[in-house]
Amino acid sequence: MSEPAAVARRTRDITSGLDPADLEGFYQDLHRHPELAFAEHRTAARLAMRLRAAGYEVTEGVGGTGVVGVLRNGDGPVVWLRADMDALPVPEATGLEYASTVDGVMHACGHDLHLTWLVAAAEALAAARETWSGTLVLVGQPAEEHGGGAAAMVADGIHERFPRPDALFGQHAVPGRAGLLSHTPGPIMSSCDDIEVVVHGLGGHGSRPESTVDPLVTAAYIVTRLQSVVSREIAAKDSAVLTVGRFHAGSQANIIPAEARLALSLRTRDAVVRARMLTAVRRIVTGECQTAGCPAPPEITVLDAYPTTVNDAALDAEIATVHRELFGADAVVDFGPAMGSEDFSLLAPPGVPYDYWFVTSTPPAVWDAVPGVELAEKIGRVPSNHSPLFAPDPAVLVPGARTLVSAALSRLTV
Ligand code: ZN
Ligand code: ZN
Repeated sequence: MSEPAAVARRTRDITSGLDPADLEGFYQDLHRHPELAFAEHRTAARLAMRLRAAGYEVTEGVGGTGVVGVLRNGDGPVVWLRADMDALPVPEATGLEYASTVDGVMHACGHDLHLTWLVAAAEALAAARETWSGTLVLVGQPAEEHGGGAAAMVADGIHERFPRPDALFGQHAVPGRAGLLSHTPGPIMSSCDDIEVVVHGLGGHGSRPESTVDPLVTAAYIVTRLQSVVSREIAAKDSAVLTVGRFHAGSQANIIPAEARLALSLRTRDAVVRARMLTAVRRIVTGECQTAGCPAPPEITVLDAYPTTVNDAALDAEIATVHRELFGADAVVDFGPAMGSEDFSLLAPPGVPYDYWFVTSTPPAVWDAVPGVELAEKIGRVPSNHSPLFAPDPAVLVPGARTLVSAALSRLTV
């Protein structure tokens, strides 16, 4: 760990050569050509090309479309920097000159911004390699949006095939007047479980319900009953969100279907609360099916479990201090933990500290134009991640590279 003021000074030095127009070109190209989870072929190739040109040893196809770039630069710690690469099935409605050219697909979560930050940081650090020693590992992760990309990279041996990290860093664009960094020591993102439920009824003619067990009615009771789990079973000091995001049953008015399918999303920040929520979901679904006299027990499958993201408090404090030195004390805030989820933490081998922070990216003109005084009021009114109108301010390109460079330099030997 190096002295924060010195790290900030050095970061300014080595990023002073970054060319905003070049970064904007790279960013706009990614934005025009978004690719869905595990299909980030063009994106991965663009990233690999830039890293190779900067002198990194690059391995492609790690965990599907993942990219790993390694720069061995003498003795010292190993620092990993990570960006995600996938876009979303959202039709873009920003009207930007560099809007998506792919029908129904959009970089609506800012992963194109994350990649540009990663490339810029990689290039700046490589160009200044005589000023630090250690090893840098750059990770372009596929499929952050529900595709299990980090898990795929781990399964493909990212922890064994590449130098093991001493620290891992990542950052995410969020709404808020561009120019703030939100640092939260400890838990910053929730865990997320997707749960599939199949209710087995007994199908038949819509005119003769007495000869059927209507799974649609049972599923409707389940949906209603689930609304009471958070309000009646979870203490006020704890937090959880349970959303039924999909309800599929039936085909036409005069047929009682044989089954109904539900998809649930569960977010929690604490393992005990998570276990309690899962138990309640199982109990309610099974109980309602029993009450209805379903001919077979329901199927309840927990899919795509995302862990909680828990920053190492000491590392977060260290990086927040460096960021204060770099951008001023007012630029570093703490929005507190979010209910969103990330698979970033899976990339850190057990026991390895990591730090993840948010970078606000709403263009100041957009932020200032929406009504509200409090941050919370305004945040709800500007386009947020996953919105077809999400349009981060390209002015955050260079600062977002500086945040990564300074985090890396804080841990490398300088
Ligand atoms: Zn997202
Ligand atoms: Zn995202």
